[in-house]
Amino acid sequence: MTGLYIHIPFCKRKCRYCDFVSFPDCGSEDLYFVALVAEMRKYAPLMKDRTFETVFIGGGTPTSMKPGRIAALMAEAKNCFDIAENAEITCEANPESATYDKLSELVSAGVGRLSLGLQSANDAELGAIGRIHSRQDFVDAVSAARRAGFTNLNADVMHGLPGQTGESYIATLRLVTELGLPHISSYSLILEEGTPLFDDVKEGRVQLPDPDDTADMEDAGFEFLAERGYRRYEVSNFAKPGFECRHNLNYWDNGEYLGIGLNSHSALRLKGEWTRFNNTDRLGEYINELGEGKLPVRDTRKIPRDEEMFETIMLGLRKTAGVPRAAFAERFGADPVEHYAPAVSELEMEGWLTVTEDSMYLTRRGMDFQNEALIKFMEQ
Ligand code: SF4
Repeated sequence: MTGLYIHIPFCKRKCRYCDFVSFPDCGSEDLYFVALVAEMRKYAPLMKDRTFETVFIGGGTPTSMKPGRIAALMAEAKNCFDIAENAEITCEANPESATYDKLSELVSAGVGRLSLGLQSANDAELGAIGRIHSRQDFVDAVSAARRAGFTNLNADVMHGLPGQTGESYIATLRLVTELGLPHISSYSLILEEGTPLFDDVKEGRVQLPDPDDTADMEDAGFEFLAERGYRRYEVSNFAKPGFECRHNLNYWDNGEYLGIGLNSHSALRLKGEWTRFNNTDRLGEYINELGEGKLPVRDTRKIPRDEEMFETIMLGLRKTAGVPRAAFAERFGADPVEHYAPAVSELEMEGWLTVTEDSMYLTRRGMDFQNEALIKFMEQ
């Protein structure tokens, strides 16, 4: 399967924990849009043998763009690429810019899945991490999304935030579940060096919850979701049956994807070789090189077969369903349980891995020690 990712780097204001390639637009949106179109047109002949089964417009905040922009991008994507009739097309949005008009535009453009950045339903917690929306903005955005026609909705939430307690995390999850969103991504806050929040914590101006409390918060939250019929299908992702994100599942299946836009990453089989590459993360370079008719690609790597195998294990074990043995055998001509026999038996004995006729997957405990488990595969 092949997915298409389109990156929109603009946000109204930078959140205090964010180290993504995102920034206020500063008047560059028009030039960026022209560059995105140029990039898609350059890839069009190279991708003519592929059908894209998912499209993900991510950011940044795609809904911060001018009216009509996302519809125009989607129209161009459909011109350039063969996008499957039943493709899952997702767009990310933040509550402050998810207006009814913007969301209606997305629906008209064929977007069928909306992913909203909530992070917390507690206004004090939102303020502490520099989000510019409130709990009520999120409630209004969900209502606008429903009126616009969305039924497939996700909310991103976080735990381990400054000032957050187990109760306030559950209150966030309660809001999302009571609003009936069928998909929730719940990430633990990662303090990234170079962000204002990192400095605040380092210099003692802000305190994060104790790691043990965050782990308890996570356990309680995940149990809360399970009780409400949300199945954990990946480390941080929960869905009602049938609402799993196909685009992200393709990443975890180590499938092919083409990334368009600033700093976007791609993984494609090119002339028989598994190949990864990414675009520049500098806006000026991205715009200028496409203006000169060049692809702004950096860091092209041909991935050796052993590494591709390990990648497939590493990504596959993020899913609760694990690594499907038949698909792995079809791709590499080897059964993963036999190929990694010493690691598999050690992890089974540890109680971290389960092997069935069809797959191998990490147990709940194994998920908590994922990195340690992967080291066993890597050491082989
Ligand atoms: S909205 Fe998302 S991408 Fe934009 S600054 Fe905040 S965390 Fe970063």
